[in-house]
Amino acid sequence: MSNSTAVLDGQRANAGKETMHALVYGGPNKKEWTEVPKPQLLHDTDAIVRVDITTICGSDLHILKGDVPEVNVGLILGHEAIGTVESVGAAVKQVKVGDRVVVSCITSCSICRYCREGHFGQCLKGGGWILGHLIDGTQAEFVRVPFCDTSTYPVPKGVPDEELLMLTDIVPTGYEIGVLNGCVAPGDVVAVVGAGPVGLSAVKTARLFNPRAIVAIDLDDNRLKQAKKFGADFTVNNGTSDPLEQIMKLTGGLGADVAIEAVGLETTFELATTLIRPCGHIANIGVHGAPVTLHLEKLWGKDVTITAGLVDTRTVPNLLGLVESKKLDVSDFVTHRFHMNQIIEAYDTFANASKTGALKVVMTP
Ligand code: NAD
Ligand code: ZN
Repeated sequence: MSNSTAVLDGQRANAGKETMHALVYGGPNKKEWTEVPKPQLLHDTDAIVRVDITTICGSDLHILKGDVPEVNVGLILGHEAIGTVESVGAAVKQVKVGDRVVVSCITSCSICRYCREGHFGQCLKGGGWILGHLIDGTQAEFVRVPFCDTSTYPVPKGVPDEELLMLTDIVPTGYEIGVLNGCVAPGDVVAVVGAGPVGLSAVKTARLFNPRAIVAIDLDDNRLKQAKKFGADFTVNNGTSDPLEQIMKLTGGLGADVAIEAVGLETTFELATTLIRPCGHIANIGVHGAPVTLHLEKLWGKDVTITAGLVDTRTVPNLLGLVESKKLDVSDFVTHRFHMNQIIEAYDTFANASKTGALKVVMTP
């Protein structure tokens, strides 16, 4: 059985002579689609999965900005994929060669204390967010998936790959770290700061709880237009208008019941804390690369709850059920489609969303 260092160390130790193409991190602002050794099984709980579709996350942009310093030069990026199992280790029981699987952005050993509590993101035995972070990821032709029995989900019949791909990270992130941590309840006024794919996932899944109003806030008018389509009742461009004024108007001067931060900047975190009413919930989703100021001098007496977290993807079975039964529509995230070897163009398209109108860009072989 693997332990954390065994999983993380020497991940390419077994790499044979076969090669593949992958997107390799070269340090801040550097990346290359290049030939690398094809991954091989390293532990008996691993699977090698052929990537059928993958995408780019806001977190990949954070890595490329240098906000995630633990990412080593030479690592293959990407933590979202749907794929076909090519080989499995001797201890793998559920997943079989030829199976099509949803590869979660979070890996789970399933036996450590945190995994047993459903906090897979905090896995103590080498799981958690490792793909495209601590070990080679999914923006490649093949990926090694550790603990594959407990870190993948079988592809259900009748749901397109593009929709399933949205359940590997962004939708569970918006749902778990935004909506559930924020305790969205019927009748709430919910402010979502940042209308990227993750913020829009929070908007969409907040609707499941029948809030009174969802207010999406972003600097990009195109994203705000999308937010309306995804279920926001009101939108505010905080570059040109004051979101606090809008929230106060809506709530009779109280403030939002829930403020969700889905950007990862000091200013947007601070904004979320100013929009909240006494006894409200501030749910931080953004990955932060720099310290933020917590204005306790204003917040200490307001009985607010502040949460921050890494997604566990523990709601994926539930979300799969909602998507399969058409109670949750995730068909509208993908705006751009590329061949895998056009991945640099795909990154440019995703990173320049205000010009390109991109939400999720997907790559297929
Ligand atoms: P994204 O970059 O596509 O979207 C961010 C949005 O924020 C954009 O629409 C941008 O216009 C907007 N924005 C930027 N500056 C702003 C400002 N000052 N005021 C208002 N809006 C502003 O990213 P995404 O893929 O939607 O991800 C959002 C965040 O969630 C990122 O920080 C990402 O790393 C993080 N994330 C966290 C987890 C987790 O487990 N906690 C998981 C996945 C992603
Ligand atoms: Zn674990």
